[in-house]
Amino acid sequence: MAAPKVAVVGAGVIGLSTALCIAESCPSCAVTVLSDQFSPNTTSDVAAGMLIPHTYPGTPIHVQKQWFKETFTYLFAIGNSAEASEAGIHLVSGWQVFKNTPKEELPFWSDVVLGFRPMSKAELQKFPQHRFGQAFTTLKCDCPPYLLWLEKRLKATGVQIYTRKVADPWELQSEYDVVVNCVGIGAQRLVGDEKLFPVRGQVLKVHAPWVKNFIRDGDGLTYIYPGIHRVTLGGTREKDNWSLSPDPGTTKDIFDRCCSLEPSLRGAQDIKVKVGLRPSRQSVRLEREVLSQGGVKLPVVHNYGHGAGGFSVHRGTAKEAARLVGECIAALQGSSSRAKL
Ligand code: FAD
Repeated sequence: MAAPKVAVVGAGVIGLSTALCIAESCPSCAVTVLSDQFSPNTTSDVAAGMLIPHTYPGTPIHVQKQWFKETFTYLFAIGNSAEASEAGIHLVSGWQVFKNTPKEELPFWSDVVLGFRPMSKAELQKFPQHRFGQAFTTLKCDCPPYLLWLEKRLKATGVQIYTRKVADPWELQSEYDVVVNCVGIGAQRLVGDEKLFPVRGQVLKVHAPWVKNFIRDGDGLTYIYPGIHRVTLGGTREKDNWSLSPDPGTTKDIFDRCCSLEPSLRGAQDIKVKVGLRPSRQSVRLEREVLSQGGVKLPVVHNYGHGAGGFSVHRGTAKEAARLVGECIAALQGSSSRAKL
């Protein structure tokens, strides 16, 4: 079999990182990324990019922990290299605070992030409305720079990148041996997945360079995440809301909520509002499927549905998707050598 041709559809954090893992694990593959939108116009560009996992109820915890650990280890190494600032990766310390002590005082990811511990009484004095808190250090991706860094890595590895909207995976059958579906919320249309739904998120990106620590309310709704250049203030979680237009009332509400956690934000400047649709599902769809028409087959690997936690697990799920692509190629090579006998 000649060099296997692999098309990765989608250029958010999932598509780009999956394409990179495939190119790394299968150097003989010809990998192409096809997408109708690229940075800065993807959901991934809107995200805060904090490595704090979201829990997928339909996926075993040990699998989620493995995905998170692989992602953390990968980004920690980038953050510790000369490329850290170009890639937009940095360590950030802060607090997750709760009005009441949570049922689970030790989340499954507590031994992956650095220095996880309960907050002291003295620290909690900063948050008079909260009674319990956890302090830790994690990583943050500044999303547009990280996506551009991934694109640059892909080009350097010889991956082709084209703008193209795909209406049906089958349309790629005559050009590619394997198709990888990383289209996020676009999978509702592309493969008719009814288990996938949007969870709208509105955030503010502000200039407030004095804010150095992250603050996250334990319910996950209100958060302050400092990045290299701007601080992300959140947020909202609006299930089945497809609107990409910023809502001014929501902007004020987010700003007020964040100021009640960090009053100095009243002095924030240059407030920009962003909206994204989290591609949500009970579990990430990470599996092989073989499409078939008239006896002709097309292997497809799905990797979408990362909801509120795509950045936190992207490298782990990308590695698994690349492994599944390897299985598809082995199966194709097996059938082509059987055909020659
Ligand atoms: P996208 O980024 O949406 O990429 C999908 C790609 O597929 C796009 O390039 C699109 O153009 C392309 N596409 C779609 N349909 C087609 C088609 N038919 N043909 C060709 N191309 C197609 N996660 C975290 O881990 N930490 C956070 O702090 C965090 N904060 C967030 C804050 C907000 C407000 C939001 C909205 C999300 C946040 N997330 C966070 C979640 C994270 O953004 C998502 O899980 C992640 O971006 C999903 O990436 P994706 O590549 O699957 O989707």
